[in-house]
Amino acid sequence: MANHEKAIHMFDVVVIGGGISGLAAAKLLSEYDVNVLVLEARDRVGGRTYTVRNKHVNYVDVGGAYVGPTQNRILRLSKELGLETYKINVNERLVQYVKGKTYPFRGAFPPVWNPVAYLDYNNLWRTMDSMGKETARHFAYLFVNINVTSEPHEVSALWFLWYVKQCGGTTRIFSITNGGQERKFIGGSGQVSERIMDLLGDRVKLKCPVTYVDQTNDNIVVETLNHETYECKYVLSAIPPTLTAKIHFKPELPPERNQLIQRLPMGAIIKCMMYYKEAFWKKKDYCGCMIIEDEEAPISITLDDTKPDGSLPAIMGFIVARKADRLAKLHKEIRKRKICELYARVLGSEEALQPVHYEEKNWCEEQYSGGCYTAYFPPGIMTQYGRVIRQPVGRIYFAGTETATQWSGYMEGAVEAGERAAREILNALGKVAKKDIWVPEPESQDVPSLEIKPTFLERNLPSVPGLLKIIGVSTSVTTLCLVLYKWKLLPRP
Ligand SMILES: Cc1cc2nc3c(=O)[nH]c(=O)nc-3n(C[C@H](O)[C@H](O)[C@H](O)COP(=O)(O)OP(=O)(O)OC[C@H]3O[C@@H](n4cnc5c(N)ncnc54)[C@H](O)[C@@H]3O)c2cc1C
Repeated sequence: MANHEKAIHMFDVVVIGGGISGLAAAKLLSEYDVNVLVLEARDRVGGRTYTVRNKHVNYVDVGGAYVGPTQNRILRLSKELGLETYKINVNERLVQYVKGKTYPFRGAFPPVWNPVAYLDYNNLWRTMDSMGKETARHFAYLFVNINVTSEPHEVSALWFLWYVKQCGGTTRIFSITNGGQERKFIGGSGQVSERIMDLLGDRVKLKCPVTYVDQTNDNIVVETLNHETYECKYVLSAIPPTLTAKIHFKPELPPERNQLIQRLPMGAIIKCMMYYKEAFWKKKDYCGCMIIEDEEAPISITLDDTKPDGSLPAIMGFIVARKADRLAKLHKEIRKRKICELYARVLGSEEALQPVHYEEKNWCEEQYSGGCYTAYFPPGIMTQYGRVIRQPVGRIYFAGTETATQWSGYMEGAVEAGERAAREILNALGKVAKKDIWVPEPESQDVPSLEIKPTFLERNLPSVPGLLKIIGVSTSVTTLCLVLYKWKLLPRP
């Protein structure tokens, strides 16, 4: 354990974790002339974002990738770092695959032709956006699986409703155009962290997992797995909450935080990219987005992952939640074959069986992530422990996307949380007023958002139980009138 005599490096702030959150924090702190050091466990920065480069793919994001309107902080930060975005292809039709059949459509959500089912769906989105109840069961399952990479029975309903709301509602979170999946970064999202690392130079140290934080003395002592020690005035922890359980704290964490960090599991996902000689799906007027409702299908959702200049045609697919556990047990080649066979069925094309390359990343096997995209709150945890997630412990402050209030779980949330925690420390250092800890973000000029307004019908159509009630009431009224008429209690024409 840490020996106070051994500490040789003194800093104002030590940041634990070189993901987007920790690096956004370190960048802001250094702009205020704060002497900051980032300790990153892996041999690379970026954490849950990771741009892999090789001759087959040029570059590919195997972790977080998509950005869109209302994600103004990550758009501002990436622009400042010289990055540009491009739009995901939605020129052709999307497809929904359900009960073995392919249904092409345009728009954010698959259309529903059965009028009773439509009422159910409409009610689902409307209720989720206002308060929340569950109907339209199969699609509701898929919606949870895709958005939080976990199962409906695993997550708290309250937390899920909060999660969708803090992303701007069901349409914003799920849409490509005008939603969370509108764009990607040219060159990959990993560049956000890499470019901040370039700015910070030797103030980012890789392969330094933090194992010990001792704040019993005037200076905090931070020790790494390789027994390097650092002293600082403040610590900014920017790792997923559950991973703080790997760190020894002195004094021990307060009971509520100690309990919280054992109760926030990470979601499960394998991200898979299939490369083809040509974008054969476009020949059928399909854009590459498939929404797949089928228990036997490995993939739940896909998007076109062809490079913006049209090179390296590819389809990106997510294996999520229970399917990630199940499919992880197979050999990579079998997973690849199953995915190709699925794409062949959904797109109705044998060309899907002839990929030229395959990339995948199983985030469940990463010890410095624990899973992805984000931590989820099981039932009961948000009400009991939720309020402590952002509470500092002595001179330790908490960032990481899980602590954000908008687009938590996303790169946007990582930036919000990192900059907020940095300002909390700047406030403690007397460099920023308390009222300036939470700074509103102006809307991105390059990626403006369009307001999402439900139509009159979407707002007012009844739910299925509501419809049944209306039918019940009107039937009763009609019957009553008939009885009264028969008994001559109603005037006859
Ligand atoms: C497959 C996948 C798809 C996703 N899709 C999207 C998307 O399309 N859009 C989007 O916005 N977001 C997406 N996300 C989520 C997004 O990537 C994350 O929300 C975001 O990157 C989190 O950033 P962070 O800095 O909070 O945490 P992290 O990226 O997890 O950073 C934490 C860092 O701390 C390090 N660390 C951990 N323990 C220690 C320790 N003890 N000592 C030192 N360092 C430590 C880790 O190595 C890591 O680098 C996706 C994620 C995945 C994996």
